[in-house]
Amino acid sequence: MEFYSNMSVFLVTASPESVRREKEKARALRKTQWWQRQVSKGICYYCRKPTPPEELTMDHVIPLIRDGKSTKGNVVAACKTCNNQKKYLLPIEWEAYLRDFSAEESTKEKYNWKDQSEGNRDGRM
Ligand SMILES: [Zn+2]
Repeated sequence: MEFYSNMSVFLVTASPESVRREKEKARALRKTQWWQRQVSKGICYYCRKPTPPEELTMDHVIPLIRDGKSTKGNVVAACKTCNNQKKYLLPIEWEAYLRDFSAEESTKEKYNWKDQSEGNRDGRM
């Protein structure tokens, strides 16, 4: 029985009603000063590439369909490339994609990214 209950956690999907509600919240969040600040940093949360604010899109770290919420802790500014990758890759492939960037990053000076990562950690539950 343990096995089956774990499986159901893994396959959790949100109800269409709650996805609709969270999408509405995301729309509202897009209009906030907070979101404007995220976008005006001009950096993709995932690949850290400098990206013009108008090309950054709102991405849910935990997708809405996986019961992710439209909260500051779960919403990040992502470039279109990363946003598309995230949509089409399996979660395990997506993790590998992110690992590539962190491997790259470890050879660079880290202080550039410090502000953003710390801010994000604070925002998480
Ligand atoms: Zn990116």
